Amino acid sequence: MPNPEELAVGIDLGTTFSAVAYLDDLGRPQTLMNAEGDKITPSVVLFEGNDVIVGKEAVKAMATDMEHIAECAKRELGYRMFHKVLGGRQFPPEALQSWILNKLRADAQQQIGPFQKVVITVPAYFDEVRRKATQDAGYIAGFEVMDIINEPTAAAVAFGFQQGFLQPGRQDDAEPRKILVYDLGGGTFDVTVMEIGGHDFVALATDGDVQLGGRDWDQRLVDFVAEEFIRKFGSDPREEPNTAGRLWRECEDAKRTLSARAKAGIACDYQGNAVRLEVTREMFQEMTQDLLDRTAFTTRQTLQAAGLEWSDLDRVLMVGGSTRMPAVGEMLTALSGQEPDRSVSPDEAVAHGAALHAGILLAQFHGRSPNFRIKNVNSHSLGVVATDSKTKRPRNAILVPRNTPLPVTAKRVFKTQKANQRSVLVQIVEGESASPDDCSQIGKCSIRDLPANLPAQTPIEVRFTYQENGRLTVQVKVQENELQHEITRENTLTQDQLDSWRQYVSGVAGGQ
Ligand code: AMP
Repeated sequence: MPNPEELAVGIDLGTTFSAVAYLDDLGRPQTLMNAEGDKITPSVVLFEGNDVIVGKEAVKAMATDMEHIAECAKRELGYRMFHKVLGGRQFPPEALQSWILNKLRADAQQQIGPFQKVVITVPAYFDEVRRKATQDAGYIAGFEVMDIINEPTAAAVAFGFQQGFLQPGRQDDAEPRKILVYDLGGGTFDVTVMEIGGHDFVALATDGDVQLGGRDWDQRLVDFVAEEFIRKFGSDPREEPNTAGRLWRECEDAKRTLSARAKAGIACDYQGNAVRLEVTREMFQEMTQDLLDRTAFTTRQTLQAAGLEWSDLDRVLMVGGSTRMPAVGEMLTALSGQEPDRSVSPDEAVAHGAALHAGILLAQFHGRSPNFRIKNVNSHSLGVVATDSKTKRPRNAILVPRNTPLPVTAKRVFKTQKANQRSVLVQIVEGESASPDDCSQIGKCSIRDLPANLPAQTPIEVRFTYQENGRLTVQVKVQENELQHEITRENTLTQDQLDSWRQYVSGVAGGQ
């Protein structure tokens, strides 16, 4: 068995499907099969008595046990609890994600032996809160999460590997290539413009939507059938969870058929009534056109944010299972004037890139020099809540605008208002809106135990640092002294809670 400390494992923890890859003896990424013999595992969790079942078997149970099933938990990371009560109990989304990771680990270990260090991928458009929640899910699953990496960046790295950019000894004299990665998965959409120059992968701009993916295309078919059913029989099959689960499976299947054929049939039985509808690819494209248009709009904007024209791009790379829909390729061809590149496997590229990144981190850990570097940008502006001098209302004072190369540190000086003030509270947000309420709330940074007897207007220097992976750290200084502070996050688990979930889900004690 290989040394667990040398195993480079990357995990694509997707909204609808997940995948695991590792680097083989020759440093090539290989996807690991799950226990069912598949390269991808549905990110679906079934609670059956004391058992937690993940993957294909859980999907099968959607027709009979829908009330015990959690799906798309990734979409709810950043909330305190997953919306659904399962077995009489509500779970934090990161715990649900950790059960998926647990299954992936158990299956992968069968082939490569035990390992603990992993890299997990996140949508580029994930905010800081969701990034932390993903790392926490990894912790609960008993992993040591070496890093998180953006999915489109991971795909670009896999592409670079495949194109031979990462071969040792390769000359770096070629012109940097500019590529646009269009990543449409099951639950999220990301677009990232990257420059690959020699061994450097540099993100120039990124944008996306964490609530847009193949699921939304499925939903349109579900709604179409349900409306037809209501028109005919006056009842809504979406009301009954198991019927809704069955209908969703039928529709997802029909969607896949429509990627290969011109038409597909969808059947729906409910309360003794049945419909069978035929949907053509044209009808499907029409009912989902606005979703595709949203991705086109974001893609154009991202290119603009990178300061590029379509003609500047060397490649348009498609990743994510939903790019198999022919309409996606057609739209991208029309937009860019070039045939998009389908050379990387849409299901595996992200996990492969994560494994390659894991390989770099392990090399660094063991004192070896890495063979490529990744440079990232932040996907959301970072701000603090300030009071508008004119309106006296709270406003988002942006410190780090989006698409700034990372790592980056921004400094802001706050002043004490009264003499002998002992604490300051700084509210940190992420987002583009001027109104803090429309932004993502990262948390409140409370600076307590300020030295006694400070005069009013004493400057307090707060430094916000975004690490390369989009995670935030905060440092506070008063009169040249570093001060302790605490970020209170609203929808996150405390270390004690994380430790007890870790013990519960993976049997690994906290801190290990
Ligand atoms: P990913 O998260 O990248 O694995 O993408 C999963 C999404 O891709 C799901 O919404 C699937 O329904 C969708 N998908 C997979 N294969 C196809 C296909 N042949 N046609 C359309 N969508 C697909």
